[in-house]
Amino acid sequence: MKRALIFLGPPGAGKGTQAKQIAQSCSVPHLSTGDMFRDAVSQGSELGKLAKPIMERGELVPDDLVMKLVKERLSRPDCDRGFVFDGFPRTLEQARQLDRILESRGFGKPLVIDFDVSEQKLLRRLSGRWTCSVGGEIYNIYDAPPKRPGICDVDGGKLVQRADDQPEVVKERLVAYERQTKPVTDYYRRQGVLETVDGGAGVEEVNRALREVLNGAKRS
Ligand SMILES: [Zn+2]
Repeated sequence: MKRALIFLGPPGAGKGTQAKQIAQSCSVPHLSTGDMFRDAVSQGSELGKLAKPIMERGELVPDDLVMKLVKERLSRPDCDRGFVFDGFPRTLEQARQLDRILESRGFGKPLVIDFDVSEQKLLRRLSGRWTCSVGGEIYNIYDAPPKRPGICDVDGGKLVQRADDQPEVVKERLVAYERQTKPVTDYYRRQGVLETVDGGAGVEEVNRALREVLNGAKRS
């Protein structure tokens, strides 16, 4: 079956985990623009060369560059049967351009899954996250704490909180996400292709709900 799946949701919604899992079980590629740009940069492709200095400055890669990369990626044979896009499109303009690319590649409308998680839960998931300064192991002080506070179970390394995971920064990231993607989810909702999944449950439960949505959409 040929189908374009798009998973959207705020940071910490768990969409990446689900996207990987669903892609694997459907034998289609799991796509994220972050990975695509990292690949392009490491392969030294033309787009990679253009994107590299922008990424190094920590700036957002402009839409036209993003769309060129997406178009190139979707033209590869492994995407012929479908794919799972993880966290893309992020802007209304990207969504519109993606529709045109999908049409040109013989896809119908995408099925878009919006992972809905309460702000309280997202804050707990994200700001509870501490990372080992030695081995990079990730803990959550609420849900998966280390045996000894502040110390890694594996290598005894000191746990640190990344700047991105500090509560004030997390709140800002969530507000920015909401502001940026609201037009995108509205766009898909108007087209009747948006499904919402409760991302606040455990990984297994979310996966089950997701499969029900995917199967339902297959039948209709
Ligand atoms: Zn460690």
